[in-house]
Amino acid sequence: MKIIMLGAPGAGKGTQAKMIADKYAIPHISTGDIFRANIKNGTELGKKAKEYMDKGLLVPDELTVDLVIDRVAQEDCKNGYVLDGFPRTIPQAESLDKALDERGEKIDYAINVEVPDDNIINRMSGRRACLSCGATYHIVHIPTKVEGICDRCGAELILRDDDKPETVKKRLDIYHEQTQPLIDYYSEKGALAEVDGTKDMKDVFADIVGILGE
Ligand code: ADP
Ligand code: AMP
Repeated sequence: MKIIMLGAPGAGKGTQAKMIADKYAIPHISTGDIFRANIKNGTELGKKAKEYMDKGLLVPDELTVDLVIDRVAQEDCKNGYVLDGFPRTIPQAESLDKALDERGEKIDYAINVEVPDDNIINRMSGRRACLSCGATYHIVHIPTKVEGICDRCGAELILRDDDKPETVKKRLDIYHEQTQPLIDYYSEKGALAEVDGTKDMKDVFADIVGILGE
């Protein structure tokens, strides 16, 4: 099962993608996580990506597309995967489709997690992320047992630099301009499924399972 998560930054793509990956035993591939790991490890890719990410801009396609296409060709992806944060532009989607088509494959589901912009700003300011294991929490909606500490691995949580309200606003503008057109793109391919992302995370997940099957 090859799945793409669509939705605004902060809609809950990562939260749901992790639950999908666990239930269906497929890898969760988040381009944002890959870039943040590269920044943490001080790689050349990380240095370049950071310049864009800190400003709320998209990392250029040249740095992003091959990375994902190589990743989905790996052995652990042969039964499927859930892509989170990719594609984010029409050219990214076209490059992915072309690479999959060459292998006789296609995306089965593009799940759009629908959340209005007003809710997003609140979610992002409360988001806390673990850079060690990739877990995500929310100080009000999805709190940790001990404040500031990851339940899963015990590392200290951070407030992402790009979750500041000014940067979130920019990211939302870019989302509407460059990423939202992907909803029509996947609809035309018959792969689109939509869920109401304003519900409780467990209810959103139940709706997704209703689409993907038990
Ligand atoms: P995305 O991957 O789309 O950027 P995240 O999954 O990181 O979004 O979620 C953004 C923030 O909202 C996080 O703090 C997360 O814990 C919280 N969140 C996710 N899903 C829900 C939900 N259904 N209700 C309330 N808060 C949520
Ligand atoms: P995310 O963790 O998905 O919210 O991504 C954080 C940031 O990483 C984004 O705001 C972009 O700067 C960058 N990024 C992640 N995925 C992509 C992508 N597919 N294309 C371009 N930039 C990306």
